[in-house]
Amino acid sequence: MSDILVRGGSMDGTIKIFVAVTKDLVEEARKIHKSFPIATAALGRTLTVAAIMGQNLKNDADSVTIQFRGDGPLGNIVAVSDSKSQVRGYAVNPFVDLPLNKNGKLAVGKAVGKGDLSVIYDLGMKEPYSGRVPIVTGEIAEDMTYYFAKSDQIPTAIGLGVLVDTDCSVKTAGGYMIQLMPEATEKTAEIIEEKVRNAPSITEMLEKGMTAEDILFFLTDGFDMLVSNETVTPVYKCKCSERRMRNAVISIGKEELKRIIEEDGKCVVECQFCNSSYTFQKDELLKMYELAR
Ligand SMILES: [Zn+2]
Repeated sequence: MSDILVRGGSMDGTIKIFVAVTKDLVEEARKIHKSFPIATAALGRTLTVAAIMGQNLKNDADSVTIQFRGDGPLGNIVAVSDSKSQVRGYAVNPFVDLPLNKNGKLAVGKAVGKGDLSVIYDLGMKEPYSGRVPIVTGEIAEDMTYYFAKSDQIPTAIGLGVLVDTDCSVKTAGGYMIQLMPEATEKTAEIIEEKVRNAPSITEMLEKGMTAEDILFFLTDGFDMLVSNETVTPVYKCKCSERRMRNAVISIGKEELKRIIEEDGKCVVECQFCNSSYTFQKDELLKMYELAR
């Protein structure tokens, strides 16, 4: 099954649901970062929810950034999506290896640790809008659910899953997000809560061969649902360029640039999202020095 993101809503407008299949996207992230299974799962879950949240952005230039700053061995985890669900991300230390947790699952929560979770919306305005909450479990889905309840005050159910194969490649990955609008009744909330509680995990549903649309209808069974016929393919795509990297180097300021020119004579910058490296030679650095503040 190729990657896909489907959106739906109840006829009465009180339920919004997104279901994403993100296997190829997460596998691409794994290959770029050469990540071990725990990082593949942690980053894969974060990239998946970012891709879903990208669907709530309006303009091409808008972006949403999710940042887990935990004290666990993975270090910070960052995922960014645009409005087309083109995502990129990284975990600072992708080579973490921990024993499985007591449920026999990858110990993602332990690898993330305690700390905080920020969500930053860059909507082309002067100041990006952001919210921050403490990390609850580090398992990503629970933390994002808590974020929506606390920071955005939207009752939200989120399921995220990445199944890593024995050869460390990604076997299945996906996620869903169900949100209740303020007009939703108590009864609707109860029914959805129960469906989510009793549903198999997202990876189990995908392993059974359910499509994104099957999962959408399964989780909202009993409600009249409309599915958007506009299909979205979430992808891993870095947006770095020489121009962006040049600007980043210029932004470190005259003093630091002077030090680099004198001590190193050149500057190599690596993109954290795709590991591409950009080298700026001395003559270029001198020009950049003129532009720096
Ligand atoms: Zn890049």
